[in-house]
Amino acid sequence: MKTPAVDPRRAVPRTDAVLAEPPVAAAVRRLGKDLVKQAVGRAQDAVRAGQVDPADVVAAVVAELPAGATRLRPVLNATGVLLHTNLGRAPLSPAARDALAVAAGTCDVELDLDTGGRGRRGAAAVDALLAAVPAAAAAHVANNGAAALALVAATLAPGREIVVSRGELVEIGDGFRLPDLLAATGARLREVGTTNRTHLRDYIDALGADTAFVLKVHPSNFVVRGFTSAVAPRELAAALPDGVPLVVDIGSGLLAPHPLLPDEPDAAGMLADGAALVTASGDKLLGGPQAGLLLGGPGVGAALVDRVRRHPLARAMRVDKLTLAALEATLRGPVPPVRAALETDPAELHRRADALAARLAAAGLDAVAVASTATVGGGGAPGTTLPSAAVALPERFAAALRAGDPAVLGRLERGRCLLDLRAVAPADDELVARAVLAVR
Ligand SMILES: *Cc1c(COP(=O)(O)O)cnc(C)c1O
Repeated sequence: MKTPAVDPRRAVPRTDAVLAEPPVAAAVRRLGKDLVKQAVGRAQDAVRAGQVDPADVVAAVVAELPAGATRLRPVLNATGVLLHTNLGRAPLSPAARDALAVAAGTCDVELDLDTGGRGRRGAAAVDALLAAVPAAAAAHVANNGAAALALVAATLAPGREIVVSRGELVEIGDGFRLPDLLAATGARLREVGTTNRTHLRDYIDALGADTAFVLKVHPSNFVVRGFTSAVAPRELAAALPDGVPLVVDIGSGLLAPHPLLPDEPDAAGMLADGAALVTASGDKLLGGPQAGLLLGGPGVGAALVDRVRRHPLARAMRVDKLTLAALEATLRGPVPPVRAALETDPAELHRRADALAARLAAAGLDAVAVASTATVGGGGAPGTTLPSAAVALPERFAAALRAGDPAVLGRLERGRCLLDLRAVAPADDELVARAVLAVR
């Protein structure tokens, strides 16, 4: 029923009256007053413009409401990059998401419920980490991989030297340079070898009274090919004198070897090879929340973890209860999505791509299933490609899919928008299909 208002301004419902309507009042409880008021304002503008009948203003407000109180929007990762840093790296497992809900309230993160006294903060996550890496004798969790490494340097090396190969002084992404991070802790870098070749004697010749530790860094997002030489951690650890620990930054967070990633270093392997300390990220191949994992081997390593844990900066880089909960649940719970995606059989991906393309083509779209190539990303397994399958659409779909809800991020390749299914959970194929159909 359209109101033929002579002066439409008169007919604009008042803000307080609209806010008092039950569906709008419920939205205020869920989203807060500011966001709902903005939606009311937009609905009132539409009434003023004659686009909405004053009698329909509540429905118009509800249509204008944001989905939640965050501007962050869910994005389906159809890029074929398993760990996409711009998409927040690893999606969490259902167990980790449930754990977040527990930790979101008040919880016993630092309380011993048996005694009522103070508990060891993060004990459950550290225990889960130690259970996952039996070769480790001690562990600590920091804010991210960079924080774990910075803590090690700040604890062991201020005013002293970190001996590291020139071939491993990497920039990881968004301008993050590992040597700058280490130097910022007050440590001096003693660079040895050359970009492509570093030998054991280079390390040994550089050791001296000022040496705090020797560092091996996983080159993360590049490979050096051709006339190259690097020293294996096992060989290096065996050659170092007592009192000079080997620290290995493996980056990716692989705790144990993975058959599909034979060249990717893992924490257990590095400790077995003699590393005193290993640092890694929680949101890369481990498939958990952003976190920095510090693992110490038996003896010296465990003592060093203890020193790191007691350094004043450990407090500044400590993780919150949400991270601890999600990390523990990732370690104890089912295979996280990143690992499931990594391990999916390519034949299964082709089946899914065929089904999706057939459905879209049946709706009249130019959609075909194609073979594709996925990567690990996030600074893991550089140079490794994973066979995958995708649905190829006209390029114009890329922007439209990004604007959808949920947004879908594909990959542009040779004038086509590819939706690679390697990093898409099978349960999300339906959402991808609907998102594409909504574009036309
Ligand atoms: C990713 C990475 C880091 C940084 O880890 P964040 O968790 O992103 O802080 C450090 N070193 C290596 C080798 C990496 O791959």
